[in-house]
Amino acid sequence: MPAVISDHQISSKYEAVIGLEVHVQLATHTKIFCGCPTSFGAAPNSNVCPVCLGLPGALPVLNKHAVELAIAASLAIGCKINPKSVFARKNYFYPDLPKGYQISQYDQPLAEHGHIDVAVDAVQKRIGVTRVHMEDDAGKSIHDGFKDSDRYTYVDLNRSGTPLIEIVSEPDIRSSDEAHAYLTELKQVMQYLNVSTCDMEKGHLRCDANVSVRLRGAKEFGTKAEVKNVNSFRFVKMAIDCEIARQIAVIEGGGKVIQESRLYNPDADETVSMRSKEHAHDYRYFPEPDLLPLMISDSWMKSIEETTPELPASRRQRFIENYGLREYDAQVLTATRPMSEYFEKTAVISNDARAAANWVMGDLSAVLKSENKEIEDSPVPPQRLGQLIALITSGKINGRMAKDIFPKMVETGDDPETIMRREGLESISDEGALVKIIDEVIAANPKQVEQYKGGKQQVIGFLVGQAMKASRGQADPAVVNRMMKERL
Ligand code: ADP
Ligand code: ZN
Ligand code: MG
Repeated sequence: MPAVISDHQISSKYEAVIGLEVHVQLATHTKIFCGCPTSFGAAPNSNVCPVCLGLPGALPVLNKHAVELAIAASLAIGCKINPKSVFARKNYFYPDLPKGYQISQYDQPLAEHGHIDVAVDAVQKRIGVTRVHMEDDAGKSIHDGFKDSDRYTYVDLNRSGTPLIEIVSEPDIRSSDEAHAYLTELKQVMQYLNVSTCDMEKGHLRCDANVSVRLRGAKEFGTKAEVKNVNSFRFVKMAIDCEIARQIAVIEGGGKVIQESRLYNPDADETVSMRSKEHAHDYRYFPEPDLLPLMISDSWMKSIEETTPELPASRRQRFIENYGLREYDAQVLTATRPMSEYFEKTAVISNDARAAANWVMGDLSAVLKSENKEIEDSPVPPQRLGQLIALITSGKINGRMAKDIFPKMVETGDDPETIMRREGLESISDEGALVKIIDEVIAANPKQVEQYKGGKQQVIGFLVGQAMKASRGQADPAVVNRMMKERL
């Protein structure tokens, strides 16, 4: 045994076990149990009514569209929809929860037994989804002021009653990379379905990570800690790694991990205890007496299932098979639904999928990045980019000219052919014009011509270069090469 055991040796003794609880805000226009708007950024406490303010006697009415989105989301991650689910009151006190309880689902959730497939380092893995349930969101507490004498907490109830689904994973995740891949896939699926914008800055997707560690090979799970509300995928990954390291250090130091909620502080890269969960929360769940059980007929479910669009995983696969894309390119080009639609239109119009992929991931992405635009607001529509690529394929322009034309398309919004004509950028495929250029080059370079004829084959490169220069890059080098040899 070495005197000092390295960190790596210690950490490889252990295995992490992770389960994620993800809240997704459904993209309805109105709240889950009342008609108040869900719009973001309204004046505080302006989007409220007796129902979402929790006033006595106000009665909730379930939003049908919210249920449809929740069903679509559940089906897309392979869940079985329960024909009957039940809303339940989850009782707790919090200043931003005016009812004194959250309306959620407990022992009879909307959907169960799903899965999300992820790939990490090219290894495919299926992560189980335990359940999907519907619930309403709480309001927001806004803390303001720095000094004790000048410190206020405000309550904004605009968010109160916003529809959420909670997606709970099985403890199947074994690393922060798998957690990241799971979240990425989950988010993509929700966005493809238009179930949610998943805008994390607005809190439309929030993640709690349950983390435990155990000795590699052990059967039993260790005690978990729950890292609450981490607001970016990068931070989730960092928070998990940091929590794994903390728990290993606790155990190696002879201590015990306690079940608790912890908060991640990305600045210090540490998690800190929030509240002990030694005694599990007693929420005194009971069925919500003001709402009927939610009954979902087979025909309703099927009609929702029929409107399911192609999902990212099958689109990726199809792009690889139909367009011969590499795995990585297919991943990039299906990252969002608008991106995948843009690529596909470009590929079809240009009839050159590889070139379309390169242009979308290269020049186009660079322009979007520099103009801070999403692909749906691209200054160059996919039809135009497709036309540009088709001009190259048909030999009307060469790749270098296309690189000149593209920025002009961005600038002017004109189509590539118009720009090509206006700028005189048509490639010289007319052999008559080329013959003239080539003869001039031959006349101007007698020494090289002599060398070539004397057997110095490589001099041809120089002569072709001179002809390309004389054509201002507008000739096709392959044609020049062939013709040059013929004339010599
Ligand atoms: P709780 O009753 O504390 O909410 P649940 O059993 O409902 O716990 O699980 C909540 C989440 O924690 C789920 O995503 C689940 O997969 C995960 N989880 C459960 N046990 C563990 C464990 N020992 N280590 C890591 N994650 C766990
Ligand atoms: Zn309301
Ligand atoms: Mg739970």
